[in-house]
Order: sequence, then C-alpha cells, then structure tokens
Amino acid sequence: MSPTIIYIFGGTGDLAHRKLIPALFNLFVDGYLPEKLLIVGIGRSELGDTAYREQLRKSVKQFSRRPELLRQHWKRFLGHLRFSRQDLSQDKAYKEMSAQVAAFEKQQKEPAQVVFYMSVAPQLAPVIAKKLYRHKLCSDPARHRMVFEKPFGHDLESARALNELLRKLFAEEQIYRIDHFLGKETVQNILALRFANALFEPIWNGNYIDYVQITAAETVAIENRGSYYESSGALRDMVQNHVLQMLCMIAMEAPISFEADEIRNKKLDVLQAIRRLQPEDVHQHAVRGQYGPGWMKGKKVPGYRAEKNVDPGSNVETFAALKLYVDTWRWKDVPFYVRTGKTMAEKETLITIQFKPAPDYAFPQEAAQTWRPNRLSIAIAPQMDIRLRFQAKQAGPHMVLRPVDMVFSYAEKNEEDRQPEAYETLLQDVIEGDATLFMRADQVEAAWKVIAPVMEAWAARPPVDFPNYAPGSWGPEDAEGLIARDGFNWVTLPES
Ligand code: NAD
Repeated sequence: MSPTIIYIFGGTGDLAHRKLIPALFNLFVDGYLPEKLLIVGIGRSELGDTAYREQLRKSVKQFSRRPELLRQHWKRFLGHLRFSRQDLSQDKAYKEMSAQVAAFEKQQKEPAQVVFYMSVAPQLAPVIAKKLYRHKLCSDPARHRMVFEKPFGHDLESARALNELLRKLFAEEQIYRIDHFLGKETVQNILALRFANALFEPIWNGNYIDYVQITAAETVAIENRGSYYESSGALRDMVQNHVLQMLCMIAMEAPISFEADEIRNKKLDVLQAIRRLQPEDVHQHAVRGQYGPGWMKGKKVPGYRAEKNVDPGSNVETFAALKLYVDTWRWKDVPFYVRTGKTMAEKETLITIQFKPAPDYAFPQEAAQTWRPNRLSIAIAPQMDIRLRFQAKQAGPHMVLRPVDMVFSYAEKNEEDRQPEAYETLLQDVIEGDATLFMRADQVEAAWKVIAPVMEAWAARPPVDFPNYAPGSWGPEDAEGLIARDGFNWVTLPES
C-alpha cells in the first residue's frame, strides 16, 4: 500500500472520537492500514500531539469494539497520530498541509495517497473543498480523496449545488459520500442473501410478495443535538439516506458485476422508479410525529419541544412513516412501508418481506386457525439475524398448524466478534479506493427527489397535533392507520 496521510477535519469532534479513531485503530491492529501512515487531526482546540493522543486513547478505550487491544498496540499506533490546530476557513491551514504532504513524500521517497475526511459541520465542507482545490491538495484523482459525512445537502437544491461545485473542482471518483448504514455487515449481507441463493430470486416480486416493511427505530431522544435536529428532522436525518438505501438493497435488480458503478446504477434505478407523491396525496401516504414529555424505562423524557436548543413551538418531526411504490415490473402494486423515529419502544432496524398467503384448501378450518403467511425478517441492528417464518404441524394427534421461525443468527455463529464496525469497512474502502458502498452524486439527488414532495407538503401545512406520541411508544396512531388501511400491521422482532 502506498504511503498515506489521513486528515481528519474536525479531529477533536464527537464523530472523530466515537467512530473514526476507534475504527482506524482496529484497522491498524488488523494490519489493514499502510505501514507508512500519518493520521492528522485538525481542529480549533489548543492541543499538542501528546494531549491529543491521550484524548484519543481514552476514546478508543471507551468506544472501540476491542478495547482490550489497547495495551498491546496503542504505543505503535500513537506514533502515527498528529494534531494540528488550524482554522479551516483560512489559507494558512492549507499551506501547512501542503508543506506537510511534501515533507512526508520526501521522507517516504514516493508520492502519497491523501484522504481528507470532512468531520465538520456541513456548512464548512464547501469552504474546505474550494481551499483544497486552490491549494492543489486534491489535484490527482488517483491519489487524493475526500470523504463527505451526512447530511449531504439540506434538500434537493442544496445537494445539487454542492454536487455542482464538487464536479467543477474534482473528479467524481475522488468523492466519497458516506452513508454508514451501507458499511454494516447485515446490510451488505442482503446482497449475499438475494444474489448468492437461487431460492429467493424466483419469488422476489409482486406475484409472491404482499408488502415490504422497513423500520429504523431508535430509543434515544435527540441527545444534545437540538440545533442540528431543528434544521433536519426524521425525514432528512434517516429516510433520505439510510432507509432509502436499505430499500434499494431489497428492491434492486441483480447486478452483472460487483463493480462500484454497476451496483450504484442498479440502486439508482430503484430510486428513480419510486413513484413521486403528488402534493394532494401526501397526507394519505405520509405520517409525521413528534414526541411529547413522558417516561421511558423508568426515566423521565422531556418532550422534544423542551429539549436544549429546540424552539418551544417547534414543528420538526421526530417520527416519519411513508408508504411508497416502486414502479417496476417486479414491484408492481407492492407497497413499501417505512418508518423511523426517536424515543421508540425498542431500538431496532428491521426489514420485513411478507409473502402472500398460501391457499389453505387442503386443511380443515381448525388446523389453520393460527395460519400466518411466510415472512422473511432481516434484523440489521442491534439484533443481527435473518428469520424465515413458515408453517409447521404442531406435534400431537391432530393436524394443527403453527408458525415457526428458521433463524440464522450472527451471534450464534460467533460472527459478532469478527464483525468490523461500519466505519472500519468504509474507511478501509476509502483507503483502497473502492467506492461501491458510497453514494454517487446522482443517487443523493434521486433520494432527495423522493422525499421532496413530502418535505414541501409538510412545510406548507404545519402539523396541528404535535406533540402526538409518547416516548416509549411506536409513534403516532396515524402511523398504525397508514398500514392498517391496507389490512396489514407493523412488524417488530419477537422478544428474545
Ligand atoms: P462536532 O461539533 O463534535 O465536531 C466538529 C469539529 O469541527 C470539532 O473538532 C471542531 O474543532 C472542528 N471545527 C469546527 N469549525 C472549524 C474550523 N473553522 N476550523 C477547524 N476546525 C473546525 O461535530 P461531529 O458530531 O463530530 O460531526 C461532524 C460531522 O459529522 C457533521 O457533518 C455531522 O453532521 C456528521 N455526523 C456526525 C455524527 C455523529 O454521531 N457525531 C453522525 C453522522 C454524521
């Protein structure tokens, strides 16, 4: 591997401490990082290398999936870590980076790869991009890469404007837009499940599938991120990116290769095939919610409007549910129900594929009282398993049927320990120049287009019933109505 410098812009921030540095540490321990390596945190804090390294050691201890490896490996790792106090809106920062890259290349006697990770507030990203261009720090598409965190834009127009700027200054192959859900093992496993097994493909369509459901539920409230959340909300924060990406994995056609652009083309087809909601249909297909004050697991939860840095009259949604259609032959008339929310009853990300009921002609009526349609449930996080529900005969003298689950569990296969964190996978891909799991410009814009009509309709009509759900529930009652109207219900994982 070529000598590499990783600049973490925002190296003292929350993301760097909780995710990026622990991920880099684990990659280092597993031998996935280049030997000739510099990791430079850049931030505005008054810190020297020693104090910065000590802060990072504490973070790795707290947040790494394998803190026990610190003792053996930290000393070697810290030799690669530097801190630089800079204001990234000033040219001085880039002059110093240029000098540092040149000195590193001279020392290594070969050109270096350089990764610039934007772990800063999104408003700063375009400023940084322009400065990197002006100082020719990102001039070689083969060696220089930039990583953009979510949110990528605030709506379709701002995402387009940012893409336009980046297109003018850089090559698309240099730009890595992160959706960290795509780095999760369980999400990547959807491709294996669908395309490495002949079993599912023939029935993976509207002839056999009744509906698809995606739940991305969090138990946490907004956790000191009031000012961010006030300009975001559940639709922007979760649906535009993570939820739609999972939907793409379920709905996409089989790729002809695992080339980054082939996979991304197939996902883009799905986003483009999602039926555009008309303004007058939004209230039939979309439900929003905001949590009020209440109790969760014995703890008092202030309502969203009482959170720090939140407008006491805020109309920002902390819950969103949508009913979508993918207008392709495969998915004709199959509803895709998706929902996400804060302070939900359980933390779970779950994809459910419900098959059409089998005709039950042969069995006596009493045998079929607990008859349930086949269902494939893919639990993404924190539980990680795939379960297929089918009917079995209950042991005994009579023909009585009952649903049972066939389960593949990562935990039972002892695969949990070997699982890299999403950020490990993604950072390794950036270093190796593999963009398969990153969002291309057109994907991001297509995803904004899907939610744009809902955003516009909601902005035009303030909600009349906020707050409308209690912490610890599954969201507002209307979300139950959204799916119950079609004769279905939301699915949650069975209690373990
Ligand atoms: P943060 O506020 O904790 O950290 C911001 C960092 O930027 C700090 O290190 C600060 O010193 C630095 N900074 C700000 N202005 C600067 C300037 N002018 N010059 C140099 N440094 C400057 O933010 P965060 O939570 O770490 O989030 C960073 C980015 O990652 C944001 O875009 C956020 O949306 C995204 N993100 C964060 C999380 C998360 O869990 N924290 C999750 C997903 C996405």
